[in-house]
Amino acid sequence: MVDAEPLDAVVIGAGFAGLYMMYRLREDGFSVHGFERGDGVGGTWYWNRYPGARCDSEIMYYSFSFLPDLEQEWPLTERYPGQPEILRYLEEVADRLDLRKDFTLGAEVTALEFDEASGRWTLRTAQGHEATARYVVTAVGCLSAANQPAFPGAESFGGVTLHTGNWPRDPVDLAGKRVAVIGTGASGIQSIPVIAEQAAHVTVFQRTAQFTIPAENGPLDEQFVALWKQNYPEWRRRARHSAAGFPYHPSVTSAFEVSEAERRATFEAAWGAGGFTFLSGTFRDLVLDEAANDTAAEFVRKKIDEIVRDPQVAEMLKPRDFPIGTKRLPLDTNYYVTFNRPNVTLVDLKRTPVEEITATGIRTSAGHHDLDVIVYATGFDALTGPLEALGIRGRGGRSLRDAWREGPRTYLGVAVPGFPNLFTITGPGSPSVLSNMPVSIEQHVEWIGEFLSWARERPAGVIEATEQAAADWTDHVQQVAGHTLHPQAASWYMGANIPGKPRIFLPYLGGVGAYRDRCSAVAANGYEGFVLSGEESGLPGERSGDHVTRPGDHRAA
Ligand code: NAP
Repeated sequence: MVDAEPLDAVVIGAGFAGLYMMYRLREDGFSVHGFERGDGVGGTWYWNRYPGARCDSEIMYYSFSFLPDLEQEWPLTERYPGQPEILRYLEEVADRLDLRKDFTLGAEVTALEFDEASGRWTLRTAQGHEATARYVVTAVGCLSAANQPAFPGAESFGGVTLHTGNWPRDPVDLAGKRVAVIGTGASGIQSIPVIAEQAAHVTVFQRTAQFTIPAENGPLDEQFVALWKQNYPEWRRRARHSAAGFPYHPSVTSAFEVSEAERRATFEAAWGAGGFTFLSGTFRDLVLDEAANDTAAEFVRKKIDEIVRDPQVAEMLKPRDFPIGTKRLPLDTNYYVTFNRPNVTLVDLKRTPVEEITATGIRTSAGHHDLDVIVYATGFDALTGPLEALGIRGRGGRSLRDAWREGPRTYLGVAVPGFPNLFTITGPGSPSVLSNMPVSIEQHVEWIGEFLSWARERPAGVIEATEQAAADWTDHVQQVAGHTLHPQAASWYMGANIPGKPRIFLPYLGGVGAYRDRCSAVAANGYEGFVLSGEESGLPGERSGDHVTRPGDHRAA
């Protein structure tokens, strides 16, 4: 067995969050090792390789702010970066910071157990790795546990089955194929127009019609890029103190402070400009007031009528089940217009539900669709799913899954009572998915890094959020969401997409800037809401050596 001396910390995941956390802890002199399920770095951008996969944050600020050289050198090509480009960016980060050596790839963590006597965690992977560490930092992403609905007969399908969130690394040839896409969230909406250009026929199985806004993607003007790069520190500062991690100011005007004509002109301009401005940059009350919301929803429904030629199809595409913006608003390129193509068919699953999947296709109550490929664009068990999949057991051997039976209870979305020395980057109860992720990730990484450095100076082997702090924070998260229209939607924000999952609003809606201030105040007050206990932390700073056992090591021992 190789030297299995306990580590100071393990980091799980090698996407944006894991790469930066690893760098911070390593540079701060902690002994740390990372485990990543994928065979490469990249996280979300490693797995989501489906046709059309692209980020909805603009490229200028979908990046790290702590790498000023890379910030200047990295080409800002298109307005929204595509999956291959983001993956290349993260690979470049990993290479520049020499991070690959610090991760074991292809290592899926399936057990994480806290030992109360030693105050340490033991980690095990499905592939047989084992490590012991004082601290665990999860960097597993919010949307990384794919939701695969259990349709009767699914295993009998003789064609190719794919999931957008778990797309194969080797290119999939869809040319000439009869393809089904199940699901019309952001992943379906991005992939359907691209798949329709390749496939012989695409049948879209829609359960709930979604609103979507044009992305208006395209190449960036050189002068614009130069100007942006000159002012990076200021853009970054604005993003950090904003509502959603974007460096723009949201509107302060109510939808009813202007005339109907002005309102329509405002929506029209935002529709033409593309992007999330349609929600946040037009009127301040769109997700607060139903009547205001309906003005925006009606605008989009009229657009669908203008774009989609077949009135029946247009009607099916019109969302009527939830206020616009209360499910994550996708940005699209050619979504609605794709339904004018002769090789695209829309199936309304509410009217004609799936009865079974057969060897040759999908049978709904209206008949059989012959297929070569079924693409599940059915989303994720969001925020809690990736954490529960780690097999976490805290004090008294209690599983995280059990502790969260009624919904996640966290302190600041970063710590869980009963699970000491465990930190969850962009966990439930933090702004996470309601923000430009790199901004929220950097804030969590830096806060956790500072906390661990602070604890190292103190006799504090065990750090734990108190029950009270977590209860208060969890109430606060729900209260803030309750002031909006969000709880009205059966969304993945509410856990409503997963049968049996408790309905609780998962991310924090209070804003990135306000959340940052709160976390900073907690730190300034000696990490209030946490209890530090145990002997000396025993973290000596930089160590060398191999602290991880590999598959087979235990057999040799
Ligand atoms: P999603 O938004 O959860 O959409 C899943 C779709 O599958 C929905 O239309 C859902 O219908 C449908 N569905 C789920 N279970 C089903 C079932 N049993 N039968 C029929 N239909 C079913 O998932 P997603 O599209 O993968 O997006 C998830 C999130 O990932 C996004 O909201 C976004 O935050 C992120 N994302 C971002 C980007 C980007 O930045 N460009 C791209 C893709 C994804 P219901 O609505 O009826 O539940």
